[in-house]
Amino acid sequence: MTDDTHDPSAALPLSSDTILVRGGLTRSQHKETSEAIFLTSGFVYDSASEAEARFKGEAPGYLYGRYANPTNRMLEERLAAIDGAETCRLAASGMAAVTAALLAPLRAGDHVVAGKALFSSCRWVIETFMPRYGIEFTLVDSTDVEAWRAAIRPNTKTFFLESPSNPTLDVSDIAAVANLAKGCGARLIVDNIFASPILQRPFELGADVVVYSTTKHMDGSGRTLGGAILGSVAFMEEHIDPYLRHTGPAMSPFVAWNVLKGLETLSMRVERASASAARLADVIAAHPATNYVRYPHRADHPQYALASRQMKTGGTLLAFDLKGGKQAAFAFLDALQIVDISNNLGDSKSLATHPATTTHYSFAPEVQAELGVTAGLIRLSVGIEDSGDLVRDVEAALNAALR
Ligand SMILES: *Cc1c(COP(=O)(O)O)cnc(C)c1O
Repeated sequence: MTDDTHDPSAALPLSSDTILVRGGLTRSQHKETSEAIFLTSGFVYDSASEAEARFKGEAPGYLYGRYANPTNRMLEERLAAIDGAETCRLAASGMAAVTAALLAPLRAGDHVVAGKALFSSCRWVIETFMPRYGIEFTLVDSTDVEAWRAAIRPNTKTFFLESPSNPTLDVSDIAAVANLAKGCGARLIVDNIFASPILQRPFELGADVVVYSTTKHMDGSGRTLGGAILGSVAFMEEHIDPYLRHTGPAMSPFVAWNVLKGLETLSMRVERASASAARLADVIAAHPATNYVRYPHRADHPQYALASRQMKTGGTLLAFDLKGGKQAAFAFLDALQIVDISNNLGDSKSLATHPATTTHYSFAPEVQAELGVTAGLIRLSVGIEDSGDLVRDVEAALNAALR
């Protein structure tokens, strides 16, 4: 795009905290400090023959906003560098990214194995949407490696898992599932949204594709919707590029710019929120209103040993069950003074939700039960407010849940 392509990652091996701030940075002829937003849908050519050469792929340069944009390119390069992926493509939301990664490579007659505990829209895509086009699926307990093995069929093409999962924070053994996928020639796609690239590195554990909702920790300030797909150049060129170009779920350059700025503070935010989440998990576990807390780095988490190896901290999310069921859960939520009631997550603001009546409302009661979505379950996404303030707010709300 200009003659000043300054890619610091090419010069020195940089730590991820430096890449978060500088990866993919490309400056225009004005030498702006901050990444520029190129809010343009199209591009012009100096001559007809230049247009021809660009369309033939014989000259570098952009063609159309649905295919690529310089601001988006900076974000793609930064995200790929952070996760150690060959390349990255963006999409208009996390679900647009998940759907592209799942659907684009598959054909009628193919089979997908996925963890049962999934973000509800991911589950809809696998369970309701893809079967309309002849794609088969098996849902397994994602924490049970033997269940993944037993689900493999000759036509299994894709494994899909989310870890930690929504809302109960089950942790899957990514390396073991990746090994099974390799053994049967399937592709493992990991939804790494809950952990973020700061806490969990799926490619190092053998994943083939990683998907993100940039809406969550990456934007971090609750401003924009977006998604990203990371993987090999061959995967993108064969499957994802034609799908994204022709079906059109492009990310706005304005959104890409917000996410670039969000990434600059991602590791600070995730580390601070994780520290508060760990502290809150202990406070909530000790409170008489609670049955149990699920937090990946607490010793009472069912996959504690695995979570300790696989994730750098226990993450920014926790879930807990209140003894008084729905009534106690609502009393807790309504008593919060700082934490907001919201189904979003990964925000600088702490947010609490009651999955049974919101995010998991559409699931049949037996499915809710199977997923551990009890009437007293609260999911808390911990933000970056002062942790003492958060502890006081949550303790007071737990006291209200006891009454
Ligand atoms: C939010 C989320 C998604 C979907 O992302 P959107 O940006 O809301 O479309 C998918 N998976 C998980 C685990 C999520 O938390």
